[in-house]
Amino acid sequence: MEIAIIAHDGKKADMVQFLNKNRAILMQENIKLIATGTTGSKAENAGFKVKKMLSGPQGGDAQIAGRVAEGKTKMVLFFKDPLSSHPHEADVSMLIRVCDVHNVPLATNEATAQLLLLGITAV
Ligand code: PGA
Repeated sequence: MEIAIIAHDGKKADMVQFLNKNRAILMQENIKLIATGTTGSKAENAGFKVKKMLSGPQGGDAQIAGRVAEGKTKMVLFFKDPLSSHPHEADVSMLIRVCDVHNVPLATNEATAQLLLLGITAV
């Protein structure tokens, strides 16, 4: 199962903490992580194996949206920072829309991300 992780700059520290907290789930053999570039580097530094896309502002969110549309990415955990503006807001909206089109679970905050991860361990 391919899971995408994305964190805006103001949420990257929270994302690393979240990854560490959920290490046992995320290190399972059937889970493959992909990420936008900078988020992916942070995850690698924390010891996770991650397939990195471009950085978000360079099109990384759009690449992940493409993988969702193709049926490759099955879940998106996106730690959005609602308190800052982003040059690639259009790509972010597109990713959210594509998840809705394809009925792919999408979390836009940590609390929801936690519930989604617990959900996959329950099935
Ligand atoms: P980044 O992109 O992980 O490359 O910083 C995230 C984003 O801003 O969408």
